[in-house]
Amino acid sequence: MTDFDSGSRLRPWQRTAAGAGLLSPDGVVAATIFAEMSALASRTDAINLGQGFPDEDGPAEVLEAAMQAIADGVNQYPPGPGMPVLREAIARHQRRWYGIEADAASEVLVTAGATEALAATILALVDDGDEVVTFEPSYDAYAALIARAGGVHRTVPLRFPDWRPDPDELTAAIGPRTRLVIVNTPHNPTGAVLDRDTLGLVVELAERHDAIIVTDEVYEHLVFDGTHVPIAALPGARERTVTISSGGKTFSTTGWKVGWLVAPAHLVTAILAVKQYLTYVNGAPFQPAIAAGLDLPDHVFADAAANLRAKRDVLAAGLVAAGFEISLPAAGYFIVADAAPLGFDDGAELCRRLPDLAGVVGVPISAFVHPERRDATRSLVRFAFCKRLEVLQDASERLAALGAR
Ligand SMILES: *Cc1c(COP(=O)(O)O)cnc(C)c1O
Repeated sequence: MTDFDSGSRLRPWQRTAAGAGLLSPDGVVAATIFAEMSALASRTDAINLGQGFPDEDGPAEVLEAAMQAIADGVNQYPPGPGMPVLREAIARHQRRWYGIEADAASEVLVTAGATEALAATILALVDDGDEVVTFEPSYDAYAALIARAGGVHRTVPLRFPDWRPDPDELTAAIGPRTRLVIVNTPHNPTGAVLDRDTLGLVVELAERHDAIIVTDEVYEHLVFDGTHVPIAALPGARERTVTISSGGKTFSTTGWKVGWLVAPAHLVTAILAVKQYLTYVNGAPFQPAIAAGLDLPDHVFADAAANLRAKRDVLAAGLVAAGFEISLPAAGYFIVADAAPLGFDDGAELCRRLPDLAGVVGVPISAFVHPERRDATRSLVRFAFCKRLEVLQDASERLAALGAR
């Protein structure tokens, strides 16, 4: 056995991550529910509504701009903070949609997806023992990165079906040891949009305890009613907020991994010092293509959201007809459904059996929750609806078999 795979020599972050269910119990390999479910889908020919990636291309202008950039020779390392054409488009986008002013040269950083923006931010700003607050369930990368940085992860529960956090629980979670508060709205895996009062309370608490707000807004353009409210637009927030987004979800280009962050210059400098030695740079020809996408007219963004909303409605109707209780998402790629009314109290077990029972694959919400807090979310399953309408119709018909058992 090498040091690396010897359980007794696990490094502290591996022990923390294993305890959080992010690594195998021996702390060595990544926890496998997503991989397990995708493998199950391909083995059984089930419809994979587990992982959240679209099965259709986004705007042609964006795809063509990338092809043109390759043809034009944009194939070498771009500048470390990102190509000016993209940084300027990001600054324009923040002003156009939200009235947020950002200096493209000093307050915008291009990253390898939102994932690298999160990683570089957390690694740059969290020291051993610093507390980081997130809502829970939460996107799995947060807990893994907090553990890797030596931070202490504190969570505020969101409860099915309306997912609204309790202000007292939020107030209790944020204190003098809090270094970061990570907000994710619209939210994965629940599809919830945090209301203005909650966002306002986060800003107030962050100011009181001098914490930095990190906001993951990758679904900013996939809101089904109304428009996205970025927390950085609230009074007092801009100077302590790192806003993270990505072209992947907005333009159905998840494989391109072009993300970014917008923050005060001193935070960008600190984060760039880490990012420089993670990927350094990525995706040269994709950067001008995402810039072109960000400058597309309003109706392109509205059409994408309307299109996705229609998909949501098809899958929602199918899940309800099958006998699930659902939380109708206000945004994003996913619906959370409660399998308890169908007699399944364990979502993970249902997900393992679902290909056999109905030819569909989902992911248990327990994958987004610490093991010791899984009871409240035990019977919940997440299904992706960022798939072609006919695929969702087929999935809905298959799911009807569950109710007919
Ligand atoms: C998809 C997703 C990400 C990752 O975005 P990339 O640009 O692909 O790295 C980050 N946060 C949330 C909430 C997501 O759903």
